[in-house]
Amino acid sequence: MARKTYTGPLVDVSFDAEVCRHAAECVRGMPAVFMPSRRPWIDPTQADTDVAAQTLRDVIARCPSGALRVVEHERR
Ligand code: SF4
Repeated sequence: MARKTYTGPLVDVSFDAEVCRHAAECVRGMPAVFMPSRRPWIDPTQADTDVAAQTLRDVIARCPSGALRVVEHERR
């Protein structure tokens, strides 16, 4: 399965399920965005403030497998 991108208002999140090691670092770190019981399970629209977007960047930085990546929006 290819890497998928989920769009948010401040940052996007890309995810590769083949790389994920299911460490659940993301689910523990930001459960509003990463909710395995929901489809899609990644919802970056929950990170709709600068503070929340920074939390999202920090949580993704802790992903041990590299499955998650932040996709920054281009500044206009
Ligand atoms: S933190 Fe990374 S490796 Fe762990 S469940 Fe989330 S995406 Fe998968």
